[in-house]
Amino acid sequence: MKDKDLKYFKDLLSGWLEELLTHADSTVNGLRDSDENLPDPLDRAVFDSERNFTLRIRDRESMLIKKIRKSLQDIEEHVYGICESCGEDIAIERLKARPVTRHCIRCKTQIEAREKLTGT
Ligand SMILES: [Zn+2]
Repeated sequence: MKDKDLKYFKDLLSGWLEELLTHADSTVNGLRDSDENLPDPLDRAVFDSERNFTLRIRDRESMLIKKIRKSLQDIEEHVYGICESCGEDIAIERLKARPVTRHCIRCKTQIEAREKLTGT
């Protein structure tokens, strides 16, 4: 990948990471603020389900944050945009749509077909 393209993805991913980290902070603060004693069982139930929902979102976010960090590391090591399975370059258009992808479209299609077969 050209330096110009690497820089483009580095900026893109850094901005995205920063956004997610800022957002993650406010989610944690939101949790702490509402973490009080609720005497009413119904309130308590609503609070619990909201809390679970928030935690699920945070799980997904922290996975994404990990992926972005790995991609940024790949950029530093100049191996970004190379398919993990076949070693071919991943199309720039595909990376622009999914900057954290680690597989070219051909391998990804194969992986998804396999996942569908095994039901995982
Ligand atoms: Zn591939």
